[in-house]
Amino acid sequence: MTARAPRHVARKRFGQHFLVDEALVERIVGAIDPRPGQALVEIGPGLGALTRPLLARAGTLTVIEIDRDLAARWRGTAGLDVIEADVLDVDFAALADAARRRLRVVGNLPYNISTPILFHLLGAAAHVADQHVMLQREVVARMAAAPGGKDYGRLSVMLQWRYAIEPLVDVPPEAFSPPPRVDSAVVRMVPLPVPALADGVLLGEIVACAFSQRRKLLRHTLGRWLAARGHTRPFDLQRRAEEVPVDEYVALARALGAAGQAA
Ligand code: SAM
Repeated sequence: MTARAPRHVARKRFGQHFLVDEALVERIVGAIDPRPGQALVEIGPGLGALTRPLLARAGTLTVIEIDRDLAARWRGTAGLDVIEADVLDVDFAALADAARRRLRVVGNLPYNISTPILFHLLGAAAHVADQHVMLQREVVARMAAAPGGKDYGRLSVMLQWRYAIEPLVDVPPEAFSPPPRVDSAVVRMVPLPVPALADGVLLGEIVACAFSQRRKLLRHTLGRWLAARGHTRPFDLQRRAEEVPVDEYVALARALGAAGQAA
């Protein structure tokens, strides 16, 4: 970024809350531990709180920024490859192919589209070594939740079947300018080396149905859905969706997928 860049007024529509707590930045970058030779990709560099230390440690970095003014500030910076785009349009598999290695994805994500970003990255998980993202703390709690609690739901199952998920650091609103209205947290997500499913499409349908009425027993929701498909695999439907562990949903999706192929 040039020294004479004009003052930037944060744009709400792009979810701009810039990290200003240097000790925290140090902690986050320390947890990421970027190294030269790695294919690092940062979503939303903004004013560079993470960009600068990532670049200093790794030497090269690709950034994806939707805000044309912010993207322009970074163009021409040594070692930095700037993609001015909506991250939801970026082909991460192609980025990994070009880098000839799996990506390390980093981002203090715009909270208004954090879930779509997570699902977009899920589609490219085979091309990702790991991802460290800042999200609303409440979203991180749902991502990492174990069965049985109020946080366990569709997001937990749809991410845990594919990633090991580890909440790392809680971040208060004062760490940002302007401060968001919610608490935040950084989470590490590492794609599982051997995913139990080829893709999450069928699992997504099962889980959406199961959690559509989470207070009801599954026989009223998933049971009907399975019966409509003539599926007879034993599955305890006398439970609520939130009581079923991820691997049972995955096993059901596998069985349904295998039956579909055989039909
Ligand atoms: N990384 C900076 C930091 O930590 O201070 C900025 C984080 S700010 C929460 C989110 C950043 O993502 C902003 O720079 C914003 O312009 C960018 N952004 C928002 N929506 C985006 C999108 N759809 N695609 C790419 N970047 C986006």
